[in-house]
This record gives sequence, C-alpha cells and structure tokens, in this order.
Amino acid sequence: MINMSDQHYSDSTQVIKTTTKPDPTTGAINPPIQLSSTFAQPGLDDFGPYDYSRSGNPTRDVVEESIAALEHGDRGFAFATGMAAISAAFLTLHQGDHVVVTNDVYGGTFRLVTELLPNYGIDYTFADCSDPVALEAAIQENTKVVYIETPSNPTLAVTDIAQAVKIAHAHDALVFADNTFMTPIFQKPLDLGVDLVLHSGTKFLAGHSDILAGLIVTKTPELGEAVYFVQNAMGATLGVSDCWLLLRGIKTLSVRVKAEARNAQAIAEWFQTQPLVKAVHYPGLATDPGHAIQAKQATSGGAVLSFDVGSEANVAELVNHLKIPVFSVSLGAVETILSYPPKMSHAELSAAERHARGISDGLLRLSVGVEDVADLKADFAQAFAQISHQQTVK
Ligand SMILES: *Cc1c(COP(=O)(O)O)cnc(C)c1O
Repeated sequence: MINMSDQHYSDSTQVIKTTTKPDPTTGAINPPIQLSSTFAQPGLDDFGPYDYSRSGNPTRDVVEESIAALEHGDRGFAFATGMAAISAAFLTLHQGDHVVVTNDVYGGTFRLVTELLPNYGIDYTFADCSDPVALEAAIQENTKVVYIETPSNPTLAVTDIAQAVKIAHAHDALVFADNTFMTPIFQKPLDLGVDLVLHSGTKFLAGHSDILAGLIVTKTPELGEAVYFVQNAMGATLGVSDCWLLLRGIKTLSVRVKAEARNAQAIAEWFQTQPLVKAVHYPGLATDPGHAIQAKQATSGGAVLSFDVGSEANVAELVNHLKIPVFSVSLGAVETILSYPPKMSHAELSAAERHARGISDGLLRLSVGVEDVADLKADFAQAFAQISHQQTVK
C-alpha cells in the first residue's frame, strides 16, 4: 500500500522518494536485493510479513509500491514480462465473459486475446475505441472489460480515455489501459477513470534495453485482491535482481522521458520539412489529428513517433545509411531505436490487414533516445541526402 504522505510530491520527486528507502538496520539507502525464496517464521502462531517469495518479497514490494504511487493507484504488481502482466489482468475474468479490445493493440496482446483466451471461454470483439459509436456498438451484455492503448502502435492514434471510460462504465464494464508508451510521467489513466493500468516495464520504466518486466496498477482494493490472487496463483513474478534494476531505471524515469520526448518533438517537426518524408505520426504535432485529445489527457506527445518514407526500397536505403539509431524491435530506451513494423511488430498481419490499419510499406517507427538531437538530425539528413542523390542519378 502507498504511504499516503508521499502522495503530494511531484513525479520528479516521487520517483526518487519511492525507490530510496533507507534500511532501518544498516542505513543503506537502496533496498537490498533480497535473494531469499523462503523466510523464517518467529513461531507457530506468529508468522512474519513474508513467507515465500512468490507470494511476497521485500525488493519486489518496493517496485510495486513505487509504480502504484506514480500511477496514483491503490496497489502495484510486478511480473516477469509485460505479457505476463497483461495475461494476469485478463485472468481475473471468467468463462463466458467478453472483452472489447482496441483495434491497434500490441501484437502480443492480439495473440493472447485471439488465440489463448478463447480456449478458456473468454470472447472478444475488436473495435476502434477512439470512436464512441464503434465502442458502444461493440459492447455486449457480458462485456466485462474494455481494453485500450493510447497512443497506439505504430500509427500513434489517440483514444479519448475519459470518453472510453464513460461508455464502458455506463455498461458496467471495467477499463484496462496499457500505458507503456506514455509512462505515468506523461499520462495517468487512473486519474481519468481507468480501473487498471498495465506496463511493459521492459520499455521506458527500465529504460535501458536490458531487462524484461511487466507491471499492473489497480484502482480499487477489490481489483487489487483479484490481481494478487492471479499473480500468486500463476506465479510469473519479477525476479528480485530484475526488480532492483527496474528500481534503478525508475529513479531516472522522469529526466529520461522528458529528454527523449523533447528530442522526439524536435525530430517530428523537422521531419515535416523533409521532402522524403511523406507523413509523420506524432500526437505532439499541432497538426496531428490526435493532438487536441492528447493535450487534454497527457502532458507530452511522448518519445515514439512513426513516419513514412514512401516505399520499402527507401526504408532499406535509410536503414543502410543511418549510423546512430539501432535498427531493432522494442522502444523506450536511452538509445534511439528504429523499427520497421511491416517486417517486425506487425509481420504476422497480411499486407491488406496492415494497409487497413495505416501501416504502409514505407512506415518506420522511431523511439527517440537521449542522444544529442543535432547529431540525430544530421544523421537523418545525410541518409536522406544519399537516397535523394541515388534517385536523381537513376
Ligand atoms: C512491449 C510491449 C508489451 C509487451 O511487453 P513485454 O515486456 O515485451 O512482454 C505490451 N504492450 C506494449 C505497448 C508494448 O510496447
């Protein structure tokens, strides 16, 4: 549970206060990596706060309290991966329940919802949750959860969180929100009425492309009890060494994401002036269709954007000539990561399905890191120039 006296701190202070807990016996300012699976009990009728690390561990407690405080929630939970957290959230449902899932959901969530949950009698409907009419139409008598992700991946489409909550709650359905792209520094879904927040801690929260982690934060004690039951029963908890690394990451979360988002905003604006770039998707741009809603519910456009260079051939040239970005899957790290959704995150979709979702053959996703923005722009400028030069030579 959160120490209520910490709640008035701003996020930049909160990330430090919640992760720095002086040890009462040694004074060590960082929580120890408590590598103990079992805990000695004082006596037959006198059990201590911990018994077995799957059920609870002091290092994991600090991570769980930290994320709960940052998301303004009641209780936090740490899992081995983002997908373990998302699976645990869905496992609070029962046979016969139905979920409405936003169209542009993360690929792993799509696979879980379409190929695993139906085996347990949990049915689904996909809908454009940013469209109130489409969302309302997708809700059924047995709909228990509306699952949203905003901005979406990789087209950065924005869903009005408060509006989705209003519609879902009118039908007695809960709202689960994947807040991985925004982090609690930029967006706090629970404050907008959401019931449960999810994170791939692998991304911005850990922030260094090193560990895998997943997190859940619940708003009410009842939902917290349900998630705790699943966490302990299914057992995909985050190992204590990774808990410690995640705490290390969270300490710098606020400064990292703000620097990364500043760079992303500058690059998105500069891309708009580049002839080779056909389109830029970034909710921080005043011209972006999601900008007004983003400005209402979040304090930044974030550190991820996508852009279209017109063709797969241009994508290949760009990847070939760029020197700074790492060409790989994933996002949310100190290094700039460039990915090609058609052959990476969205490779399982057919070309027609990709195009229907706005994932064109020239679309690249950029997760901007903390490098010097002038160096990043210069690197893209030289790569764009080589492509333009080849096109005039041809
Ligand atoms: C990466 C990601 C996940 C899955 O997290 P893992 O840690 O890879 O299991 C879920 N949602 C979003 C938005 C992601 O980017």
